[in-house]
Amino acid sequence: MSLTVRGGNRAAAGTHAREAAIVNAVADQRHTEQKDLPAQVRRWVQVAERITVLTGAGISTDSGIPDFRGPSGVWTKNPGAERTATLQHYLSDPELRIAAWQTRLHHPMWSAEPNAGHQALVRLEEAGKLQALVTQNIDELHQRAGHAADLVVEVHGTARWTRCWSCGDRRQMSETLARVTAGEQDPPCEQCGGILKSDTISFGQDLVPDVIERAMRASAECDLLLAIGSTLSVYPAANCVPVAKAAGALVVIVNGEATAMDQLADAVLVGSISDLLDRIVD
Ligand SMILES: [Zn+2]
Repeated sequence: MSLTVRGGNRAAAGTHAREAAIVNAVADQRHTEQKDLPAQVRRWVQVAERITVLTGAGISTDSGIPDFRGPSGVWTKNPGAERTATLQHYLSDPELRIAAWQTRLHHPMWSAEPNAGHQALVRLEEAGKLQALVTQNIDELHQRAGHAADLVVEVHGTARWTRCWSCGDRRQMSETLARVTAGEQDPPCEQCGGILKSDTISFGQDLVPDVIERAMRASAECDLLLAIGSTLSVYPAANCVPVAKAAGALVVIVNGEATAMDQLADAVLVGSISDLLDRIVD
Protein backbone atom coordinates (compact mmCIF):
# COMPACT_ATOMS: atom_id res chain seq x y z
CA MET A 1 0.00 0.00 0.00
CA SER A 2 1.46 3.36 -0.90
CA LEU A 3 0.21 6.61 0.57
CA THR A 4 0.39 10.02 -1.00
CA VAL A 5 -0.40 13.34 0.64
CA ARG A 6 -1.47 16.43 -1.22
CA GLY A 7 -2.16 19.18 1.26
CA GLY A 8 -0.62 22.29 -0.21
CA ASN A 9 -3.69 24.12 -1.45
CA ARG A 10 -5.90 24.09 1.62
CA ALA A 11 -7.73 27.42 2.05
CA ALA A 12 -6.86 29.68 4.97
CA ALA A 13 -8.52 28.98 8.31
CA GLY A 14 -12.02 30.31 8.76
CA THR A 15 -13.52 31.44 12.03
CA HIS A 16 -15.67 28.33 12.35
CA ALA A 17 -14.27 26.10 15.09
CA ARG A 18 -14.72 22.94 13.08
CA GLU A 19 -12.88 24.39 10.13
CA ALA A 20 -10.09 25.50 12.45
CA ALA A 21 -9.93 21.95 13.78
CA ILE A 22 -9.64 20.61 10.26
CA VAL A 23 -6.90 23.10 9.36
CA ASN A 24 -5.03 22.12 12.54
CA ALA A 25 -5.47 18.51 11.55
CA VAL A 26 -3.91 19.27 8.16
CA ALA A 27 -0.95 20.94 9.90
CA ASP A 28 -0.63 17.96 12.27
CA GLN A 29 -0.63 15.67 9.31
CA ARG A 30 2.36 17.41 7.74
CA HIS A 31 4.26 17.14 11.02
CA THR A 32 3.62 13.42 11.44
CA GLU A 33 5.68 12.82 8.29
CA GLN A 34 2.62 11.40 6.61
CA LYS A 35 3.16 8.05 8.23
CA ASP A 36 -0.44 7.20 9.02
CA LEU A 37 -2.59 8.96 6.47
CA PRO A 38 -5.62 6.64 6.90
CA ALA A 39 -5.71 7.59 10.61
CA GLN A 40 -5.59 11.24 9.59
CA VAL A 41 -8.46 10.81 7.14
CA ARG A 42 -10.36 8.95 9.85
CA ARG A 43 -10.15 12.07 12.04
CA TRP A 44 -11.46 14.21 9.15
CA VAL A 45 -14.39 11.82 8.78
CA GLN A 46 -15.04 12.06 12.53
CA VAL A 47 -15.32 15.88 12.49
CA ALA A 48 -17.11 16.20 9.15
CA GLU A 49 -20.84 16.94 9.30
CA ARG A 50 -21.85 16.73 5.63
CA ILE A 51 -20.09 14.04 3.63
CA THR A 52 -20.72 13.41 -0.05
CA VAL A 53 -19.34 10.18 -1.49
CA LEU A 54 -18.59 9.50 -5.16
CA THR A 55 -17.99 5.85 -6.07
CA GLY A 56 -16.81 4.12 -9.22
CA ALA A 57 -16.27 0.54 -10.32
CA GLY A 58 -13.26 0.07 -8.03
CA ILE A 59 -15.44 -0.30 -4.94
CA SER A 60 -17.22 -3.30 -6.49
CA THR A 61 -14.19 -5.26 -7.70
CA ASP A 62 -13.84 -6.87 -4.24
CA SER A 63 -17.40 -8.14 -4.80
CA GLY A 64 -16.23 -9.92 -7.96
CA ILE A 65 -17.49 -7.38 -10.50
CA PRO A 66 -14.70 -6.41 -12.94
CA ASP A 67 -14.16 -2.71 -13.59
CA PHE A 68 -13.85 -1.13 -17.04
CA ARG A 69 -10.61 0.82 -17.26
CA GLY A 70 -8.42 -0.73 -14.56
CA PRO A 71 -5.53 -3.11 -15.39
CA SER A 72 -7.95 -6.09 -15.48
CA GLY A 73 -10.85 -4.03 -16.78
CA VAL A 74 -13.46 -5.25 -19.23
CA TRP A 75 -12.55 -2.63 -21.82
CA THR A 76 -8.80 -2.83 -21.17
CA LYS A 77 -8.79 -6.55 -21.97
CA ASN A 78 -11.44 -6.47 -24.70
CA PRO A 79 -11.77 -3.06 -26.42
CA GLY A 80 -14.52 -4.50 -28.67
CA ALA A 81 -16.83 -4.81 -25.65
CA GLU A 82 -17.07 -1.04 -25.53
CA ARG A 83 -19.05 -1.20 -28.81
CA THR A 84 -21.87 -3.03 -27.01
CA ALA A 85 -22.16 -0.10 -24.63
CA THR A 86 -22.60 2.41 -27.46
CA LEU A 87 -26.24 3.37 -28.01
CA GLN A 88 -26.09 3.81 -31.78
CA HIS A 89 -24.62 0.33 -32.31
CA TYR A 90 -26.98 -1.28 -29.79
CA LEU A 91 -30.10 0.12 -31.44
CA SER A 92 -29.01 -0.62 -35.01
CA ASP A 93 -27.41 -4.07 -34.69
CA PRO A 94 -29.63 -7.05 -33.68
CA GLU A 95 -26.60 -9.40 -33.54
CA LEU A 96 -24.92 -7.09 -31.07
CA ARG A 97 -28.09 -7.08 -28.91
CA ILE A 98 -28.20 -10.89 -28.92
CA ALA A 99 -24.60 -10.92 -27.69
CA ALA A 100 -25.41 -8.22 -25.12
CA TRP A 101 -28.27 -10.29 -23.63
CA GLN A 102 -25.94 -13.28 -23.29
CA THR A 103 -23.34 -11.08 -21.56
CA ARG A 104 -26.03 -9.79 -19.18
CA LEU A 105 -27.31 -13.31 -18.50
CA HIS A 106 -23.88 -14.50 -17.38
CA HIS A 107 -22.74 -11.31 -15.64
CA PRO A 108 -21.07 -11.78 -12.21
CA MET A 109 -23.32 -8.98 -10.93
CA TRP A 110 -26.21 -11.35 -10.20
CA SER A 111 -24.28 -13.32 -7.60
CA ALA A 112 -22.28 -10.38 -6.20
CA GLU A 113 -22.72 -9.29 -2.59
CA PRO A 114 -21.73 -5.95 -1.01
CA ASN A 115 -18.21 -5.99 0.49
CA ALA A 116 -16.60 -4.34 3.53
CA GLY A 117 -16.17 -1.10 1.56
CA HIS A 118 -19.90 -0.85 0.83
CA GLN A 119 -20.64 -1.66 4.48
CA ALA A 120 -18.28 1.06 5.72
CA LEU A 121 -20.22 3.67 3.75
CA VAL A 122 -23.47 2.51 5.37
CA ARG A 123 -21.89 3.44 8.71
CA LEU A 124 -21.56 7.04 7.45
CA GLU A 125 -25.30 7.09 6.81
CA GLU A 126 -26.02 5.58 10.24
CA ALA A 127 -23.90 8.36 11.79
CA GLY A 128 -26.09 10.94 10.06
CA LYS A 129 -23.16 12.36 8.07
CA LEU A 130 -23.96 11.15 4.56
CA GLN A 131 -25.82 13.69 2.47
CA ALA A 132 -25.51 11.86 -0.85
CA LEU A 133 -23.84 8.80 -2.33
CA VAL A 134 -23.16 9.60 -5.97
CA THR A 135 -22.24 6.46 -7.88
CA GLN A 136 -21.08 5.67 -11.38
CA ASN A 137 -21.90 2.02 -10.67
CA ILE A 138 -24.90 0.24 -12.13
CA ASP A 139 -24.87 -2.78 -9.77
CA GLU A 140 -27.11 -1.46 -6.93
CA LEU A 141 -24.68 -2.91 -4.37
CA HIS A 142 -24.93 0.29 -2.31
CA GLN A 143 -28.68 -0.14 -1.92
CA ARG A 144 -28.24 -3.84 -1.18
CA ALA A 145 -25.69 -2.93 1.53
CA GLY A 146 -28.46 -1.03 3.28
CA HIS A 147 -28.46 2.61 2.10
CA ALA A 148 -31.72 4.50 1.88
CA ALA A 149 -32.54 4.48 -1.84
CA ASP A 150 -33.12 8.23 -1.91
CA LEU A 151 -29.50 8.90 -0.81
CA VAL A 152 -28.04 7.01 -3.78
CA VAL A 153 -27.61 9.11 -6.94
CA GLU A 154 -27.04 6.76 -9.90
CA VAL A 155 -25.45 8.99 -12.53
CA HIS A 156 -25.09 6.11 -15.01
CA GLY A 157 -28.38 4.36 -14.25
CA THR A 158 -28.87 0.76 -13.13
CA ALA A 159 -28.39 -2.62 -14.79
CA ARG A 160 -30.93 -4.25 -12.48
CA TRP A 161 -33.76 -2.76 -14.55
CA THR A 162 -34.62 -2.70 -18.24
CA ARG A 163 -36.21 0.18 -20.11
CA CYS A 164 -37.98 0.17 -23.48
CA TRP A 165 -36.28 2.54 -25.89
CA SER A 166 -39.67 3.33 -27.53
CA CYS A 167 -42.28 3.61 -24.75
CA GLY A 168 -40.11 3.82 -21.62
CA ASP A 169 -41.67 0.76 -19.93
CA ARG A 170 -39.39 -0.14 -17.00
CA ARG A 171 -39.10 -3.62 -15.50
CA GLN A 172 -36.83 -5.72 -13.31
CA MET A 173 -33.90 -7.08 -15.32
CA SER A 174 -34.52 -10.54 -13.81
CA GLU A 175 -37.93 -10.66 -15.52
CA THR A 176 -36.39 -10.01 -18.94
CA LEU A 177 -33.43 -12.35 -18.38
CA ALA A 178 -35.95 -15.12 -17.63
CA ARG A 179 -37.30 -14.57 -21.17
CA VAL A 180 -33.76 -14.87 -22.57
CA THR A 181 -33.25 -18.11 -20.64
CA ALA A 182 -36.56 -19.35 -22.05
CA GLY A 183 -35.26 -18.84 -25.60
CA GLU A 184 -35.96 -15.22 -26.66
CA GLN A 185 -32.59 -14.08 -28.03
CA ASP A 186 -33.47 -10.37 -28.18
CA PRO A 187 -36.68 -9.97 -26.17
CA PRO A 188 -38.85 -7.05 -27.37
CA CYS A 189 -40.94 -4.79 -25.12
CA GLU A 190 -44.13 -6.58 -24.07
CA GLN A 191 -46.08 -3.31 -24.25
CA CYS A 192 -45.07 -1.99 -27.67
CA GLY A 193 -42.56 -4.37 -29.28
CA GLY A 194 -39.75 -1.81 -28.95
CA ILE A 195 -36.07 -2.48 -28.22
CA LEU A 196 -35.22 -3.22 -24.59
CA LYS A 197 -31.96 -2.10 -23.02
CA SER A 198 -30.63 -2.12 -19.47
CA ASP A 199 -31.65 1.13 -17.76
CA THR A 200 -28.10 2.43 -17.91
CA ILE A 201 -26.52 5.39 -19.66
CA SER A 202 -24.79 4.09 -22.80
CA PHE A 203 -22.12 5.96 -24.72
CA GLY A 204 -23.90 8.40 -27.00
CA GLN A 205 -26.91 8.55 -24.67
CA ASP A 206 -27.91 11.74 -22.84
CA LEU A 207 -27.45 11.80 -19.09
CA VAL A 208 -30.45 12.68 -16.92
CA PRO A 209 -30.04 16.41 -16.15
CA ASP A 210 -31.84 16.30 -12.77
CA VAL A 211 -29.59 13.46 -11.59
CA ILE A 212 -26.39 15.27 -12.59
CA GLU A 213 -27.61 18.49 -11.01
CA ARG A 214 -28.26 16.66 -7.76
CA ALA A 215 -24.76 15.15 -7.81
CA MET A 216 -23.15 18.56 -8.35
CA ARG A 217 -25.29 20.22 -5.67
CA ALA A 218 -24.33 17.52 -3.15
CA SER A 219 -20.67 18.11 -4.04
CA ALA A 220 -20.98 21.88 -3.64
CA GLU A 221 -22.69 21.57 -0.24
CA CYS A 222 -20.45 19.04 1.52
CA ASP A 223 -17.58 19.67 3.90
CA LEU A 224 -15.83 16.41 2.96
CA LEU A 225 -15.90 14.62 -0.39
CA LEU A 226 -14.75 11.02 -0.57
CA ALA A 227 -14.02 9.93 -4.15
CA ILE A 228 -13.71 6.13 -4.08
CA GLY A 229 -12.79 3.57 -6.72
CA SER A 230 -13.07 5.91 -9.67
CA THR A 231 -10.32 6.81 -12.13
CA LEU A 232 -11.99 10.28 -12.16
CA SER A 233 -11.63 10.39 -15.91
CA VAL A 234 -15.32 10.09 -16.84
CA TYR A 235 -17.32 13.29 -16.92
CA PRO A 236 -19.55 14.79 -15.67
CA ALA A 237 -19.29 12.48 -12.63
CA ALA A 238 -15.60 13.40 -12.18
CA ASN A 239 -16.62 17.05 -11.84
CA CYS A 240 -17.77 16.29 -8.29
CA VAL A 241 -14.11 16.68 -7.25
CA PRO A 242 -13.36 20.20 -8.57
CA VAL A 243 -16.87 21.36 -7.58
CA ALA A 244 -16.35 20.22 -3.98
CA LYS A 245 -12.83 21.66 -3.90
CA ALA A 246 -13.99 25.04 -5.22
CA ALA A 247 -16.67 25.13 -2.51
CA GLY A 248 -14.02 24.69 0.20
CA ALA A 249 -14.54 21.02 1.05
CA LEU A 250 -11.76 18.65 1.96
CA VAL A 251 -11.27 16.10 -0.81
CA VAL A 252 -10.04 12.55 -0.17
CA ILE A 253 -9.39 10.12 -3.01
CA VAL A 254 -9.36 6.38 -2.27
CA ASN A 255 -8.41 4.14 -5.18
CA GLY A 256 -6.36 1.14 -6.22
CA GLU A 257 -4.16 3.29 -8.45
CA ALA A 258 -3.42 6.94 -9.27
CA THR A 259 -6.33 9.00 -10.62
CA ALA A 260 -6.65 11.94 -12.99
CA MET A 261 -7.39 14.28 -10.07
CA ASP A 262 -4.89 13.32 -7.37
CA GLN A 263 -3.37 16.81 -7.53
CA LEU A 264 -6.68 18.34 -6.38
CA ALA A 265 -7.01 16.15 -3.30
CA ASP A 266 -6.08 16.90 0.31
CA ALA A 267 -5.26 13.22 0.74
CA VAL A 268 -4.86 10.31 -1.67
CA LEU A 269 -5.05 6.76 -0.29
CA VAL A 270 -3.86 4.06 -2.66
CA GLY A 271 -4.46 0.41 -1.86
CA SER A 272 -7.25 -2.06 -1.20
CA ILE A 273 -10.43 0.02 -1.22
CA SER A 274 -12.42 -2.20 1.15
CA ASP A 275 -9.50 -2.31 3.64
CA LEU A 276 -8.94 1.45 3.47
CA LEU A 277 -12.64 2.31 3.91
CA ASP A 278 -12.87 0.00 6.88
CA ARG A 279 -9.97 1.90 8.44
CA ILE A 280 -11.22 5.44 7.79
CA VAL A 281 -14.85 5.00 8.90
CA ASP A 282 -15.54 4.18 12.56
ZN1 LIG B 1 -42.18 -0.36 -25.17
